[in-house]
Amino acid sequence: MAAKRHVVVLGAGAMGLAAAHRALARGWRATVLEAAPEPGGMAAHFDLGGLSVERYYHFVCRADAPTFALLAELGLGDRMRWVPTSMGNFVGGALHPWGDPVSLLRAPFLGTLEKLRYGLFAFAATKRGAPGRLEHVNARDWITAWCGAAVWDKLWAPLFDLKFHELSDDISAAWIWTRLKRVGTSRRSPMQEELGHIEGGSETLVHALVRAIEAAGGAVRLSAPAERVAVEGGRAVGVRAGGQLVPADAVISTVPTPLIPRLVPELPNLTAYEAIENIGVACVALRLARPVSRHFWVNVSDSRIAFPGFVEFSNLRPAPGGDAVVYVPFYMPRSHPRWAMTDATIRDEAMAGLALVNPGVSPADLRAWHVGRLRHAQPVCPPGFAAKLPPVRTAIAGLQIADTCFYYPEDRGIAESVRLGRAMAEAL
Ligand SMILES: Cc1cc2nc3c(=O)[nH]c(=O)nc-3n(C[C@H](O)[C@H](O)[C@H](O)COP(=O)(O)OP(=O)(O)OC[C@H]3O[C@@H](n4cnc5c(N)ncnc54)[C@H](O)[C@@H]3O)c2cc1C
Repeated sequence: MAAKRHVVVLGAGAMGLAAAHRALARGWRATVLEAAPEPGGMAAHFDLGGLSVERYYHFVCRADAPTFALLAELGLGDRMRWVPTSMGNFVGGALHPWGDPVSLLRAPFLGTLEKLRYGLFAFAATKRGAPGRLEHVNARDWITAWCGAAVWDKLWAPLFDLKFHELSDDISAAWIWTRLKRVGTSRRSPMQEELGHIEGGSETLVHALVRAIEAAGGAVRLSAPAERVAVEGGRAVGVRAGGQLVPADAVISTVPTPLIPRLVPELPNLTAYEAIENIGVACVALRLARPVSRHFWVNVSDSRIAFPGFVEFSNLRPAPGGDAVVYVPFYMPRSHPRWAMTDATIRDEAMAGLALVNPGVSPADLRAWHVGRLRHAQPVCPPGFAAKLPPVRTAIAGLQIADTCFYYPEDRGIAESVRLGRAMAEAL
């Protein structure tokens, strides 16, 4: 009997694990190399004062079909939990309900015509089937054309500026459209948003994948950063990690693209990878003795507050003892002065901002906290991005490369990473 062919997968996030799992099912041997000491990548958990939570918040939408299919395949089809959730909008110094037709009609920060235009915009976004011309349009121009410049300035500019900073004027409308559609269609009714979480958190899926990979004879090697893809005669023949060569018949890379030039300097189109920009995040996770709001997600448009919103995760997955688990993401390029601040300073900024939203919240409510930092947290996708993406199958035989921006115009998400990881395994 011929020996099984061997694929080495770089990265044990959702994409890499899904790829290895699928490759094993297709009769390959698989080894996953992961730089971090734990599997899961952006979906990994940590201990927040005795509570196992994601380092970065994760909710599931009704559209996340690849996640449901994988959960079913792993025997976890009954682990999805669906919860009626709501959104808030902190504008003009007050917190307002947001994200449904009645909240829009009642919003005191919008005029009558603005409400009508905003409603049409949100409705059309969820009904649109394909990006079409949005691929070549700037997000600001698209939103302004529908809603008017005043609505852009009031509600959207603060969010874009605090997420993308100097790059905020160059974001693809197709990218923001897929975000609006994914959340906008995750509803029980027009009035009721419904979001999901996996029982036990994303870790449930991550650990089940690792177990399934190991049970099928594969290996997940942690604290094993890949140093170089070995290329001979135009073909990927292995990966160097820890000074040793792991031989391979094929290599699938799922690590962030900014790392690719160092890993595979032989690639003829390195400039295409170098051109992909990423924003970092310092994500403050707080365990508080009291809730900040009744909403899952709150957008923030307030010049005194340096974050674009916060996620009150315990309003989706309740925490023990009625505690609140709140994430406050500070997105920024790593050149931003805030990146150099200490974790405690960033935590204090998060707490001060939350206290403006709910003056009842004070440092005395803080039970546990953590700042998760990710250098490559969010790819920046300008108009025309689809044409700039290098192909997943590279010019080096046997080498496929992707990360979260390769499923553009979809935004990063576990479901899309799973889908693309499996597709790469199918293409072996
Ligand atoms: C703040 C935040 C909020 C989010 N919210 C949601 C949400 O609500 N819902 C949702 O579905 N998704 C959400 N996401 C996105 C989701 O987490 C990602 O799309 C998904 O987890 C990406 O999986 P991946 O495997 O593609 O990439 P990653 O998880 O980034 O995996 C890449 C892996 O490669 C590893 N690596 C890096 N360098 C090397 C090397 N040299 N050798 C070996 N390994 C290496 C990394 O350590 C990492 O584990 C969020 C992400 C962030 C940051």
